[in-house]
Amino acid sequence: MDRSLLFLNQFKNFNFSKAHINSQFSAGIYACKTCSYPVYVSTKRFQSFCGWPSFTTSIEKAVTYTFSDTIIEASCGHCSSHLGFVFKGEGPNAKDTWHCIDPDSITFVIGDSSLGKI
Ligand SMILES: [Zn+2]
Repeated sequence: MDRSLLFLNQFKNFNFSKAHINSQFSAGIYACKTCSYPVYVSTKRFQSFCGWPSFTTSIEKAVTYTFSDTIIEASCGHCSSHLGFVFKGEGPNAKDTWHCIDPDSITFVIGDSSLGKI
């Protein structure tokens, strides 16, 4: 079964948060707003104070990257929609990556963040 359909089937009783995604730090999953494919989990989110949701990594193989000389673009691994940008060595510690994700590109679903299996 397609991964995004599996995700939707497991969350038939979606409990979408009404809170703005920037202030959302509950346990759950962040899905691509375009196709509902799960791309990030709450356990990998950190407070960056940059104004956009920030993560140290994505769900494994859920995000694709486009590299240029100065920037790494993150896109949904399912539908290729733009998600945000990735910066190396600028996460919570120097070894981390920082996925700086456009809040308009993802939806938060309260639930079991282990579904992401990262
Ligand atoms: Zn997508």
